[in-house]
Amino acid sequence: MLSISCPTIGNAEIKRVTKVLKSGLIAQGPEVEKLEIFFAQYCGVKYAVAFNSGTAAIHAGLYALDIQEGDEVIAPPFTFVATASPILMQKAKVVFADISETDFCLDPLEVKKKITHRTKAIIPVDLYGQIYNSEAIGTLAQRYGLKILEDACQAVGAERNGKKAGSFGQAAAFSLYATKNITCGEGGILTTNDFVVAEKAKRLRHHGQSEKQQYEYVDLGYNYRMTDIQAAIAIEQLKKVDQLNERRIHNAEQLTAGLVNIPGLILPMVQKNTHHVFHQYTVRITEAFKTSRSSFIDYLHRKGIGAGIYYPKPLHLCQLFSNYGYQQGDFPVSEKIAKEVVSLPIHPYLTQQNIKYMISTINKYAK
Ligand SMILES: *Cc1c(COP(=O)(O)O)cnc(C)c1O
Repeated sequence: MLSISCPTIGNAEIKRVTKVLKSGLIAQGPEVEKLEIFFAQYCGVKYAVAFNSGTAAIHAGLYALDIQEGDEVIAPPFTFVATASPILMQKAKVVFADISETDFCLDPLEVKKKITHRTKAIIPVDLYGQIYNSEAIGTLAQRYGLKILEDACQAVGAERNGKKAGSFGQAAAFSLYATKNITCGEGGILTTNDFVVAEKAKRLRHHGQSEKQQYEYVDLGYNYRMTDIQAAIAIEQLKKVDQLNERRIHNAEQLTAGLVNIPGLILPMVQKNTHHVFHQYTVRITEAFKTSRSSFIDYLHRKGIGAGIYYPKPLHLCQLFSNYGYQQGDFPVSEKIAKEVVSLPIHPYLTQQNIKYMISTINKYAK
């Protein structure tokens, strides 16, 4: 089976982890600090703060941006749950806004409709590895005095207008979960240019402890720390992120060239001036396609192609958000896209042979 994702752990990671394991310092320590400096440098920002998950990084980002009870935060419903659940952790209100079908990211016109006097922040998602429409949404945020927390969990290394993911908005969150473009099993990073945001994020990470005095707790906090074991892996992964992303992009280019002109199959669109890092290669199965999406996926699985659906259910229709009174029809683009998407294997370990096999297998079926 060609799996949908495949972690690329090599000898460098194993060597570095072994060193940490033998050092006697295995919780948060010097490796985490090195990772933070390296990650900030890579994204072109001043600060990076490491966490034990991307979810924790998003939560800390909201906390550090002062999102509180009663505040409204705008997010897309077509994303992973952890884009929006941290808004609930801060007892703030989730306000969904629909996506655009050209890039699967927040539609600036829909965002604008959702802004009220209670709106404090927007969480745009760099879905599948492509940066959101940062010009239009950035302009809105400025006009209405809103903060932006970029959910860059799928987009390490992506660029827009020459700027790296993680450098848009007041803060950005990354995930180092096993299926992401680089990984340390579980992990997260918050990036920011704001010293105060970085310090507050560190406070939430460590039990709400005062920055000035140990064992003085000024706020409710958590244990969101990353270990040096994870950081050691992440450092070696970050060294090769560009190389890994290039292989994804190369695979995507070949798939796109091989899958054009299949009726009813819409291929991923790369927006102008963006460097899309293809966390997922996501096609859409529309009316004109030969069969239903589920028959197509069954066929792919029978042929050993591990296709997946990200995401089958928009968040506004999930029980977690049900007390907001959203219903079917509220976000028509998200609802339609959720019924159409299929992600095909695109990870860096796929061989030329694998890609050719996918192309011919799909063409045989659909033409
Ligand atoms: C992976 C992911 C997260 C959460 O990251 P974890 O490290 O799994 O907690 C949040 N948002 C998006 C869009 C993601 O893909």
